[in-house]
Amino acid sequence: MTALSARGLTKSYGSTTALDGVDLELPSAGVLALLGPNGAGKTTTVEICAGLMRPDAGSVSVLGSDPSSESVRARIGTMPQGGGAYPGVRAGEMLRVVAACAARPLDPDWLLDVLGLSGRTRIPYKRLSGGEQQRLALACAVVGRPELVFLDEPTAGMDPQARHLVWQLVAALRRDGVAVLLTTHLMEEAEALADDVVIIDHGRVVAQGSPAELTAGDQQELRFKARAGMDLEPLDRKLPDGYATSETLPGRYRVQGRIDPAALSAITSWCADQGVTADDVKVHRRSLEDVYLDLTGRELRS
Ligand code: ATP
Repeated sequence: MTALSARGLTKSYGSTTALDGVDLELPSAGVLALLGPNGAGKTTTVEICAGLMRPDAGSVSVLGSDPSSESVRARIGTMPQGGGAYPGVRAGEMLRVVAACAARPLDPDWLLDVLGLSGRTRIPYKRLSGGEQQRLALACAVVGRPELVFLDEPTAGMDPQARHLVWQLVAALRRDGVAVLLTTHLMEEAEALADDVVIIDHGRVVAQGSPAELTAGDQQELRFKARAGMDLEPLDRKLPDGYATSETLPGRYRVQGRIDPAALSAITSWCADQGVTADDVKVHRRSLEDVYLDLTGRELRS
């Protein structure tokens, strides 16, 4: 069963192309994480899929229907980025009001407890910390027992303890058969929660698959520290074709390719030629963050 299927989504804001043909597929009881740099198009994708905005072109099917239809609205939950609420409303009241709109809500007190908010129920929304407001928004998104939940950066600004509570809740939703589409800038979060990851850049999908699929392959890398600014050209000549060398930060070096005895010998002899001892030498497989940075670049996005 498919919870969400999107085909060829495009969306422009004036001359800015936010989405340029995005396809997504989310099975029931699956967790799909959208990753991408600032401005990549994640929020636009979520808002279109949640029925909050129409695409310029392309189609979305949510639980078998149009996401803006009345029948679907009652079956989905949405936690928008930044949240927001009437500033004077108390946390407990707010959740109870949202729960009252659902046919079979979860127990609001139980949910407040699970999210570590049971001591904050009488506090006005504006007096909650940013992380508490986020957790209340998450509680509001799931209290109606949705079949599909949209979470836009659900743990942004949360401390590690609060983040782990949210992760446990998302894992529990998945076990209960709820599908989750989330966006995040935390690779650790995507690896901990997601069955599948979609990386978006400039409004296009640049990679998709499970975290294990995206980091698979015999591509390895060796990292080490040494004097900054060493000439990599002699090392490139010593290594066979197919290796990539770089100084990722001053004094931090990376050699990508199969790290076998011949490659190790080439690297250590290059260091010896320059009278340098490599420090903190580590061989490791690429992480999701490495894959992400290789695909989307290392420069800052505004
Ligand atoms: P972030 O990680 O910063 O939340 P994002 O991946 O969610 O970014 P979007 O918010 O979807 O990105 O924005 C995609 C692009 O569309 C950006 O260039 C953004 O500036 C632009 N954009 C989004 N909303 C509007 C709007 N209402 N008016 C004009 N441009 C917009």
